[in-house]
Amino acid sequence: MSALIECNNLVKIYKTAELEAVALQGLDLEVAEGELIAIVGASGSGKSTLLNILGGVDVPSAGDARVDGSDLLKLSARERVHYRRRVVGFVWQQTARNLLPYLSASENVELPMSLDGRPRRAVRQRATELLEQVGLGDRLGHRPAQLSGGEQQRVAIAIALANEPRVLLADEPTGELDSDTATEIVELLRTVNADHGVTIVVVTHDPLIADHVNRTVAIRDGRTSSEVLRRTEFDGIGGSQLVAEEFAVLDRVGRLQLPHDYMEALDLRQRVRLTLDPDHINVWPDRDDGEDDR
Ligand code: ADP
Ligand code: MG
Repeated sequence: MSALIECNNLVKIYKTAELEAVALQGLDLEVAEGELIAIVGASGSGKSTLLNILGGVDVPSAGDARVDGSDLLKLSARERVHYRRRVVGFVWQQTARNLLPYLSASENVELPMSLDGRPRRAVRQRATELLEQVGLGDRLGHRPAQLSGGEQQRVAIAIALANEPRVLLADEPTGELDSDTATEIVELLRTVNADHGVTIVVVTHDPLIADHVNRTVAIRDGRTSSEVLRRTEFDGIGGSQLVAEEFAVLDRVGRLQLPHDYMEALDLRQRVRLTLDPDHINVWPDRDDGEDDR
């Protein structure tokens, strides 16, 4: 089995004249075809960097990143254009960045298809269908300025889907919306995921979004640190309940990141003792903390 999105030990270093910023430091991530996942993490943890890499906007410094068979470290300029036009669709946080202000909603959706050389009539028809699917069948001729923020993000989703991408990437798509509108956009992403089968990765620091997806991956300091999986459990007598379980992410060589609050609770520093039991591993504080060998 191979995942649709696969990142191994992904590194991204931004170099400027004065300094280097390590935005990703050995990030691992796998996303299966058809999944809808959320990526969460503090500001500056590397979420946008990851999304820009997956979107073919930015090139990794080292490691592996593959999407639908494309090796994102090795794409030629021409392959990159094709990748960005066909394989991925992108929705940005800033509603204005997604749309051209002087074009109507339907012209905005038509544009990527026209650039892709599709016949005019098919383009018009598909734009109308897509806008109907995102609930804007009665706004085809409106310009962005005549649409609300939520409506603009709906158009942005229609644009991102125009060329039937395998992957839809959304970087804080609800960041500028009130919480009711944000919930509607998340529900729309869920519908799009179910109806189009498109794999969706959505970056958010909105817990509302995270609650609406089956898998949430947390990034800390440029690495995936933990995941929350949600599933519905049925009790057999007609009831059901949503169960959320948190996991630490284990990388290929066995590294894992302990949750910060666990480390603080037991005052874990530098070293821990590990012991293996038949079905689990114990982690103990190293109580004499190296006083004698310093
Ligand atoms: P997030 O989206 O989680 O807030 P980012 O991916 O935007 O985080 O940023 C991760 C780190 O990389 C930050 O320390 C940020 O300052 C740095 N960074 C991001 N983009 C650039 C850039 N173009 N040039 C230099 N540093 C950058
Ligand atoms: Mg960001």
